[in-house]
Amino acid sequence: MQMGKCKNITRLLSDALDRPLTTGEWVAIRLHLPTCSGCRNYRKQIRLLREAARTMSGISAPGGMNGED
Ligand SMILES: [Zn+2]
Repeated sequence: MQMGKCKNITRLLSDALDRPLTTGEWVAIRLHLPTCSGCRNYRKQIRLLREAARTMSGISAPGGMNGED
């Protein structure tokens, strides 16, 4: 376990959804993920959350299912 490192990596993984990461940040992630199932799971979870958010916004988008009024 690398507790301090994991906190940093999970922060970077969630930051990556909002802003471009620097090369150094990606390197830190790519070095860490193969060694840490906890952070791999975290990445999987935030990806699923983002997919779900996209699906939800797709459903409510115009041109989809109308006539609910
Ligand atoms: Zn980790």
